[in-house]
Amino acid sequence: MIKLAIPAPELATIPVFGTNEEFPIRRIYCIGRNYADHTIEMGGDPDREPPFFFQKNPNNADTSGEFPYPPETNDVHHEIEMTIALKSGGKNISEETALSHVFGYAVSLDMTRRDLQSDMKNLRRPWEIGKAFERSAPIGPIVRWEDIGHLETGSIQLDVNGKVTQSGDLNQMIWKIPEMVSYLSRFYDIAAGDLIMSGTPAGVGPVVKGDKLVAKIDRLPNLNIVVV
Ligand code: MN
Repeated sequence: MIKLAIPAPELATIPVFGTNEEFPIRRIYCIGRNYADHTIEMGGDPDREPPFFFQKNPNNADTSGEFPYPPETNDVHHEIEMTIALKSGGKNISEETALSHVFGYAVSLDMTRRDLQSDMKNLRRPWEIGKAFERSAPIGPIVRWEDIGHLETGSIQLDVNGKVTQSGDLNQMIWKIPEMVSYLSRFYDIAAGDLIMSGTPAGVGPVVKGDKLVAKIDRLPNLNIVVV
């Protein structure tokens, strides 16, 4: 038995839909610019860019249903994303075997302090301050893939105060689920408990206190968030 010098940090977990179990989070990877229409709205060229990833912290995931407006920003944006949860991993995983590592899928939001992200981009500095902050990854329960199949196609939509704000289809993802898993495993030891946020379709924009967000992906339960 290890004798801890300070109390152990709380393990970050997400409910598994339809069970009394929780999914423990090890890492959160996020892909950038994975839908062509969003790449264009952010000033990029979808034809020339290889995939790139950043990370959020495991305890940035939040299942409370509330998103507290974060400090030190005046421009927090919503990005609806489908999250892939992994039950196993490895190095140099082939695309052909990648789906065998998937545990399930969830609806999530990659909340972004866009003003701080833009400042860091302009200064050629890392983006963490814009992406990996407290409660920056609201997420719904993880649905086991055995119950719904793999989410390679299906609508993805965010309503803000009852108005459709982001809308697309999972089949528009530039880098598909097996490609993301395989690519990440070339650079990292990926493992059980890892999450991959798979990018957002066009229509990202600011939220303000009081906004009600309903994030919807086919075959997954809606994620309802209130900005407080
Ligand atoms: Mn994103």
